[in-house]
This record gives sequence, structure tokens and C-alpha cells, in this order.
Amino acid sequence: MSTPTHRPDTRVIHEAEGHPSFAHPLTTPIYETTTFLFPDAASLADFQQAKNDLLIYSRYGNPTVMSAEAKLAVLENAEAALVFGSGMAAVSTTVMALVSAGDELLCSGAIYGNTMAFFKHLERFGVTVRFLTLDETRDPSPVITPKAKLLWFESPINPTLRCIDIRQVADVCRARGVTTVIDSTFASPVNQQPLSLGVDVVMHSATKYLNGHSDVTAGAVAGAQAVIDRIRPMRRLLGTIIDPQPAFLLARSMKTVDVRVAKHNATAMAVAEWLSRDGRVSEVLYPGLPSHPDHAIAAAQMRGFGGMVTFDLGGSYERAARLFDRLSVVKRAASLGGVESLCSLPVLTSQYGWSDADLVRAGVTRGMVRLSIGLEDPQDLIADLDQALS
Ligand SMILES: *Cc1c(COP(=O)(O)O)cnc(C)c1O
Repeated sequence: MSTPTHRPDTRVIHEAEGHPSFAHPLTTPIYETTTFLFPDAASLADFQQAKNDLLIYSRYGNPTVMSAEAKLAVLENAEAALVFGSGMAAVSTTVMALVSAGDELLCSGAIYGNTMAFFKHLERFGVTVRFLTLDETRDPSPVITPKAKLLWFESPINPTLRCIDIRQVADVCRARGVTTVIDSTFASPVNQQPLSLGVDVVMHSATKYLNGHSDVTAGAVAGAQAVIDRIRPMRRLLGTIIDPQPAFLLARSMKTVDVRVAKHNATAMAVAEWLSRDGRVSEVLYPGLPSHPDHAIAAAQMRGFGGMVTFDLGGSYERAARLFDRLSVVKRAASLGGVESLCSLPVLTSQYGWSDADLVRAGVTRGMVRLSIGLEDPQDLIADLDQALS
């Protein structure tokens, strides 16, 4: 894992502020400062010649942010990690660092909507962007050209929770010199460790499971030191680093991500099994159910099946909207991965405005309901769904 090479001397800092009793805090304090004191001219000169990792300015790096990064590196079993002000900041900074005009960017067509919208903008900068079908994403060898630089994909995929064999994508791309990035937001590092399956960079919207309390917007990437060292200077230039305050909250939340996700997994499985036995529900999409088309892939590469459950009310928007409006324990909101269970209707959020043909291609219907299972008692959630379905 990557430990911060420059360990800030909290004793010196706090003594300078006249609080020696705070010299050895158990937790990493919020270093609410934009800048840092230089010890002397020689150390600053060494910094400019890359001979030390002096902390000099919080847009470059900050101890509270570094503590969140060190935790993510441990969770992803990565050499290094970077934390950003949002998931989209992580997406845009990573791509700006890794692709250039003339390159081709391959992207799964089943991807987070704003990621897709950002990638379309890259055409303005001379990058060719090609969106792949599910089959092309699974085995990209026929679509990789000599200009292909980066392949971006997601697993599990929103909202159908289709899964991609991560090792297969990584192996094909590595053999052809294409860097792979997986958006692993839906899985969290607790359920899936893509770096161990050969992917080059794992990205998260830390707004979701990593922070887990629906109160911080943040993003992250993790990978080998060499690739993270290519992304870090772009974060400095774009200014997409997270602030110390939310970084503190994120680092604190990551201490409990394994116990939270274990409970999300168990409750989601209970809810999915209950829904799949209910005659009013036409289909349940949960990777942990043997009926899910990618159950075998998920079982092979995930340690848990996650907290997201999607189900279909016979393709009927009216029935889905009626259930949605009747929920009370489960809250109506976008986003996912938090303590509170949330419900969204894909045709009003991630798939809003799509044509029937596009919906069919994505495997999404107008009667689909997506649940982000929180930490409530499973029986309370099931009772709420039961009354909303009646
Ligand atoms: C939410 C989300 C993002 C974007 O993250 P923000 O923190 O909202 O910027 C990217 N990918 C996936 C899969 C997401 O769910």
C-alpha cells in the first residue's frame, strides 16, 4: 500500500498552535489549511527538484486527504490512491491524464450517464470515443484498434446489475496495450477488488458506499504507483482534489465500510428473495439470485452481491409509479449506498428520455424499480414493499 511519504509532524504543528496536549491524536485531524510552513530554503529547493514530498499547498495534497487515500489503498489492495471532490472529478481527471488527441477511448455503452456525456465531449479535443455493446465489452479483442488507449467499463451495471468478467477484459486489454479503468462504485471495495483481477485503475464515486451516509460528495481512483503518478499532476492542474473537511468524513466512513456493506449485502439478499417469491413482481434482478443472467460471473469475482436490487412490475410504468409513491420507510431519491434505503425509477433518472429501442438494448423497462438497500431492519423494508405493492 502507499503510505504518505511525508508524514506531517502533528507534534510540531500543534505545539506551534500552543496545544501540546493534542500532540498524539488517535484519529487524523482535519488539516483545515490551504498552505503549509516551509522548514527552510534548502527543503523547499529540494522539493522543487523532487527530492522530497514536502506538503506545500492543499490543492497539491493535504494530510487529511492523504489519510483517506491511504485507507482506500488498503481497501483496494493498491499501491496508491487519489481522492477527488466528486466521482465525476475522478472520471474527468483520470481521462484527461491518460488520453490525448488522436487516441481512441473504448467505453462500455452501459455506463453511468454523466460519464458517457463527458466522454462525448472528448470528441471536441480530438479523441475518438467508441461505445461498446455488452458483448464487445466482455471480449473487446475485435474492436481494439492500434489507436485504442483506454477501455472504461462498469460492473455491476446500473440498473440491471449485469456483470462483466473483469479478468477477461483486463487480460485482453493488457495483451493489446490498452489501459483498463473500472467504475466499481456499485460493488465497493468490500465486494470486489478489480486490481487483483488485472484491471489497471479502479474508480469510485465515493459519494456512494465508501462514504455511505449520503452526506459527502467525493470520488476516488486506486492503482499501481506508476499510473497514479500520471493522474496526480492532472488533479493538481484541474484542482479536482477534495477539501479537508469532507475528506475527514470520508476517511471516518471508510473505517466502517466492511460492516456496512456486509449488512447491505445480507438485507439486499433477503429483500431480493422475498420479491422473487411474490406473484405481483414479474422479475427480480439481483446478482446473488441464481436466476440472474450473470450470477455465475458475480459469484466467481465478488465476495458479496451488493446492496442494489432492481425489480420489474410487468413493464408497467403506472404500477411502478404507484409503488414508488406509496413507499414510506424506503425514501424516494436518486443516489445509492447510504444508510437509508432509497428507491428510484430508472426511466425517470438514469434512463430518462431514452427511446423504446434504447431501453430494450439496455435491458431496461418502464416498469423497473431500483432499490438501494440501507441499514434498516429487513422486515421493515419488506413490510413497506408489501404495502406499496398491494
Ligand atoms: C454516482 C456515480 C458516479 C458519479 O459520481 P458523483 O460522486 O456523483 O460525481 C459515477 N459512477 C457511478 C456508477 C455512480 O453511481
